[in-house]
Amino acid sequence: MPELPEVETLVQQLKKRVLGKKITQIEIIDPKVVDPKIKKISPFKITKIYRRAKSIIIETNNNYFLHVHLRMTGHFHFAPKTKLSSLDPYKKFIVAKFHISDDSLLTHNSIRKFGHINLLNKQQLQKELSKLGPEPLDKKFTLKKFKEIITKKYRANVKTTLMDQNFIAGVGNIYAQEALYHAHIDPRRKISSLEEKEISLLYQQIRKVLHKAIQHHGTTVENYVHIEGTGGFQKYLAVYQKNSCPKKHPTKKTTLGGRGTFYCPQCQK
Ligand SMILES: [Zn+2]
Repeated sequence: MPELPEVETLVQQLKKRVLGKKITQIEIIDPKVVDPKIKKISPFKITKIYRRAKSIIIETNNNYFLHVHLRMTGHFHFAPKTKLSSLDPYKKFIVAKFHISDDSLLTHNSIRKFGHINLLNKQQLQKELSKLGPEPLDKKFTLKKFKEIITKKYRANVKTTLMDQNFIAGVGNIYAQEALYHAHIDPRRKISSLEEKEISLLYQQIRKVLHKAIQHHGTTVENYVHIEGTGGFQKYLAVYQKNSCPKKHPTKKTTLGGRGTFYCPQCQK
């Protein structure tokens, strides 16, 4: 499932291609994935594209919001007017087509159809986003803030807490494991057992791992692709789906909160 860096990559690429453009016509091929009400608000101009947690928000000039959840296999593909045939390889999985006034085409594709694009008004969007925790790369997300929220989760497990979207937004199974490795913290630990120093290091490593993954356009392990191809961060993974850590120690796999979790018993205490 795409996490913060993968979704952020897509947002940056969508901005380059469709921000400020006018959507003239929408074809909805799978109404279970893409809300058919979106057709009723077209034509519209795309005035803003941004990320919140693991979802994409596309704002329109008629005050609506397309709320995009990619889940496991949602993708966007884009082709300018002269290269429409470049979309052919993805035809099979197209769930919606957004025709743009310059004759370019944006498609939304979904292989397993777990994701969805919902149409929301401002109030509905605010309600939808209100429960989410802070954005870990936001300037306002200081070490002080992190300490403040993590100490409230005293009894909880550290890894499942990092993945809780109401705690902090955007971190999922991959980046929680990676941040814990680089912070030398065993993912099975309870928050109450963390020392002040460990909390500080964890804060730094969450941000560092996410920043680095954005630089490399995310991680492609199963079928995440961005508009320009695949991610590159998989080369830098330390423990996620690895048999050994970067120091060549054998890793161990456990299950936490129902999710497979890798760690190095020698590097992480
Ligand atoms: Zn190790």
